[in-house]
Amino acid sequence: MEHATILAGGIGSRARSMTQDRIPKALLPVAGVPIALRQMEALAREGIRAVTILAGHLGERLALALVAQARRLSLTMDVIVEREPLGTAGCLTALRGRTHDTLIVYGDMLFEMDLSRLTAFHRQRGAMATIVAHPNDHPETSDLLVERDGLVRAVLPAKFRRKGDFRNLVPAGLFLATPQFLEQVTPGVKADLILDSLPRLLAQGKSIAVYNTPEYLRDIGTPDRHALAEADIANGRVARESLRRRRTAIFFDIDGTLAEEPGGHGVLSPDQVALLSGAAEALKRAVAAGYLTVAVTNRPQLAKGLVTEDGLDAIFGRLECMLARDQAWLNRIYYCPHHPEAGRAGEVAALKIACRCRKPAPGLLEEAARDLNIDLRNSVLIGDSLRDIGAAQALHIPGLGVRTGYGCRDTQRYPGLPPKPAHMFDDVLEAVNFMTAQQNSQATP
Ligand SMILES: [Mg+2]
Repeated sequence: MEHATILAGGIGSRARSMTQDRIPKALLPVAGVPIALRQMEALAREGIRAVTILAGHLGERLALALVAQARRLSLTMDVIVEREPLGTAGCLTALRGRTHDTLIVYGDMLFEMDLSRLTAFHRQRGAMATIVAHPNDHPETSDLLVERDGLVRAVLPAKFRRKGDFRNLVPAGLFLATPQFLEQVTPGVKADLILDSLPRLLAQGKSIAVYNTPEYLRDIGTPDRHALAEADIANGRVARESLRRRRTAIFFDIDGTLAEEPGGHGVLSPDQVALLSGAAEALKRAVAAGYLTVAVTNRPQLAKGLVTEDGLDAIFGRLECMLARDQAWLNRIYYCPHHPEAGRAGEVAALKIACRCRKPAPGLLEEAARDLNIDLRNSVLIGDSLRDIGAAQALHIPGLGVRTGYGCRDTQRYPGLPPKPAHMFDDVLEAVNFMTAQQNSQATP
């Protein structure tokens, strides 16, 4: 992929308090550099060779302001000024006739991404478009995507009331569009990506992929978010969170560690999800300290036929929603749906296998490490079961035990010689505090 399109149109009403309507919002400085230039730099670093800027209000000034910088970055740049705003999909009319993929970037996004991973994912899915998405801290007032195996099953716009428990997966202002996707835009007609284009394509059975990434993607369109973005540039977070960089992770077990362990068959419905005290705070502190937050969880209820995949989505959705109310999130949830002992009524035979992912096997952690470029040597796992500790031990990373849930006393259920936790803590917050304190003492000369 060598081409990107920056959507710099629209009136910029939210950003008006910052631009005073004197400059197009694409020229709004973020830590001294116009946002459009920051975007062009991030794109050029990732091998993009040509950029089309779709501009609107005050758009004529963009070309003049950016042409020299584009040349410095060896980027071919063309600016197209929209006479009337046609919305996030309608404006793509200007790109019809393109013969190659383009990465669409909303004009108010500050980001740093490994685009080779995005394009590899896109090719694997063979989709008409791939939407970049992530969990955020306000899913209840955001557009949501319902996903299965990397493909979008439904779009749930924020402006409509939603009933039910949905995963925290929010479109993040970038998407990869194929020429086929651009062809379906009705020329000159106002249309919105989330409200019009995506629902229509899904209804036609077209395949749209969703790429969930922990990389830095923040819109700077309000004074609050703009201030956060400037702080993140200053402290190096923007560059550090690219998947080109190895990152350390804290792996979290869910039931008994972040949420209550109900015992018996485990959690079978969203109503059984109850956060443990300190869980949201623990995740927030882990994120603030620069860790990826990755859940790894055994869900044998799927193999046993006690929970469907949709049911599990609702359970995770409830958990993520509760966490988000306290501004906390998990970058990913990896789960094992298998169970080794076959022979019960109602079970799903295909899932009744001895797998590589059911903890204490380390398969979920290994998969996460591949997907998210995790530096395993400096990562840890926090869990309440000896199976969690065993999975950590299999990868030679510290397994931190908590006294909530099974409290690492489940020797009876352990298949083989029980492992020993590296440390024991009262709860997940104490364990995360231990990690961040260690990090601080290492950072001090
Ligand atoms: Mg547990």
